[in-house]
This record gives sequence, structure tokens and C-alpha cells, in this order.
Amino acid sequence: MFSAAKQGESFTYTCWSRQSMLTGLMYHRPEDPLAFLENCLQKTRELGGPECVAWDTFIMPDRKPLPPITTAQGKKAPCKLDSGPGPGPGPGLGPYRRYDRLPPIQAQFSIESDSDMTESSGLIQEYDVFDPLKPRPHIIFIIGGPGSGKGTQTAKIAAHYDFECVSVGEILRNQLLQHAPSDRKWELIAQIIANGELAPQETTIEELKHQFIKKQDAKGFIVDGFPREISQVFTFEEQIGSPDLVILLACSNQQLRQRLEKRALQQGRPDDNTHAIEKRLETFKHNITLIAKYYQERGLIIRVDADREEDDIFTDIKAIVKEKLFSNKEEPPAL
Ligand code: UDP
Ligand code: MG
Repeated sequence: MFSAAKQGESFTYTCWSRQSMLTGLMYHRPEDPLAFLENCLQKTRELGGPECVAWDTFIMPDRKPLPPITTAQGKKAPCKLDSGPGPGPGPGLGPYRRYDRLPPIQAQFSIESDSDMTESSGLIQEYDVFDPLKPRPHIIFIIGGPGSGKGTQTAKIAAHYDFECVSVGEILRNQLLQHAPSDRKWELIAQIIANGELAPQETTIEELKHQFIKKQDAKGFIVDGFPREISQVFTFEEQIGSPDLVILLACSNQQLRQRLEKRALQQGRPDDNTHAIEKRLETFKHNITLIAKYYQERGLIIRVDADREEDDIFTDIKAIVKEKLFSNKEEPPAL
């Protein structure tokens, strides 16, 4: 019989291996999901049980490591997973077709919209967001729980380095104000956001792309509040490229709640209601582990203690950006 601790451990391993399978499913979107899952189970047994499964055991077996942080600008070429020889995930795990055009993400849902047939039919157009003949602008993601100070720090870095701010939450909120009254898609997204949940990623990523295209000549972009889940990580990487740096603003739950309650009184945002706050905290906690692990393995993420004063946090962030983005070059003049 298992002791309590052992039972807990085995439960964690089982959850983890289930999570890995889901990640594999989201990533490969196999034509036959059941066969894929059966193969995953088979592979789990071959490896020696759920405790031997890593988060990416079931994804991208032939993935090459991304370039090191200083040169992590390359857009990953859309690739097909071939069944060819070489190290593979084990018998029967390939080939899995990756869509040349992404289908709607089934883990969430697709929103029908009369006004946007391209998106509602799930056909996200593949195009180069940045001019392939020019060096790509730097991209920094600022992630952290709701109320962790992402917006504040994003504005400070952007001003300091003359980068462009892109706040995904703000873009979505602006779109809602403009379209929600007349467009069913945005009406639904308004409800999702007010409920503290995530908008469909095809919409979010298209909105991000539009911002990048609009500001083609920017030296860099600071993206506030993205990615929020692992499938956004993969889609962004596939369609735009790898970020150069990911900054995680780490805050205690107590601090997050206090700041959100204060903000609710000051700003009256639709998602700063009690129910949405709890939901957003829960969603963040649920998704951050996988996102952080993914970027950790690529040496792209730095965690900053965000329970402190704004200026102290910013001092740390400035040093991190300088080291990661400009260590080999002259730092651009601070504005
Ligand atoms: N949101 C989303 N996808 C994203 C980023 C944001 O759906 O990639 C939605 C989500 O509902 C979130 C809201 O926009 O709760 C507000 O995001 P913001 O970053 O402004 O929230 P904060 O973390 O600052 O509280
Ligand atoms: Mg914000």
C-alpha cells in the first residue's frame, strides 16, 4: 500500500503525464487523437511509468534547440514533422501533420463572426509579420499574475529603451469598446474577459500581429500580459518567432489580490470584479508553470521579485534587459 506521501506523488506524476499528453495533442493536433493518446500511453509504459514522462515527452521529437538568447531572433520556419529515421518519440508516434494553416484551437473554442469570415473559419493567414530582409525588432514578454505590475513596468522599459508597448489586455479592451455592441464575436469575447477567462488565441495573436505590422520600424516591442497559456507560446513562436527575453514578475497571491482590489476602486475595469479576479488568479496559477518551464529550458526567462517598490523592480529589469539584449553591443542611449 502507498503511504499518503507516495499516493500524493503518484497522483502528481499521473497529472503531469496527462498534462504532457494534452500538450502533445495541442501541439501536434494529430488527425487521429485517440491513436495519438494510445501511443503516448504505450510510450509512458516503455519509459517506465508516468514519473519518467517530461513535459515535452510528447511534443516535437525532432525539435532542435532554439538559438541562444543573444541571437534568438529567428522565426522558426513552419515545419512538417516527418517520420524519417533518427531519434523519434518511439514507435508509432509520428508522423503528425502540422497544419500549414492553423485550425481553430479546440481546447478553447472558435467564435463565429459574420464580420470576419477568415478568422471564424479558423484560417489564420500565414504571412511574414516582419521584413525578412531586416533584423527583427527585439521582443520582450512581460508576464505575471493579474496585478503584478506588468503594465507599469512595460511602460517604463518602453520609455527607457524607446521600444513600443503592446498590451494585449488593452488591445482587447479597446476592440471590445469599439465592436462589442454590434459584433457578435466581440460581444462574446467581452463576456469571456468579464468572466476572467482567456479570449480565443487566434484572435489574440492576430491582434498582436496587427500591432507589429503597424509599427514595423520599432527597435523593439515589450509585450505586456502575453503569453497566458502554452498553446499561445507555440503559436507565437511558429507564426512570429521566439521572444528574446521573458520577464516573469513574481508576486505573492496576497499582494496580487490587494492590488486588484485597489485597482477595482480606481479604474472600474470590467474584469476587476471579485469572481473574475479569482478566476484570473486561478488561470494564471494553472498556466504559468508550463510556460515558465518551457522558457526556462530555452534560457529565456528571468524571474523578478515583484512584491517590492516599483522603482526597485525597474532597476532590476533594466539590468536584465541590458545584459540579455545588449551585452555584446553598446546599449542604446537611455531616453
Ligand atoms: N487576455 C486574453 N489573452 C491574452 C491576454 C489577455 O484573453 O493573451 C484577456 C484576459 O481575459 C485577461 C484580460 O485580457 O484577464 C486582461 O488582461 P491584462 O493583461 O490587461 O490583465 P492584467 O494581468 O493586467 O490584470
Ligand atoms: Mg495589465
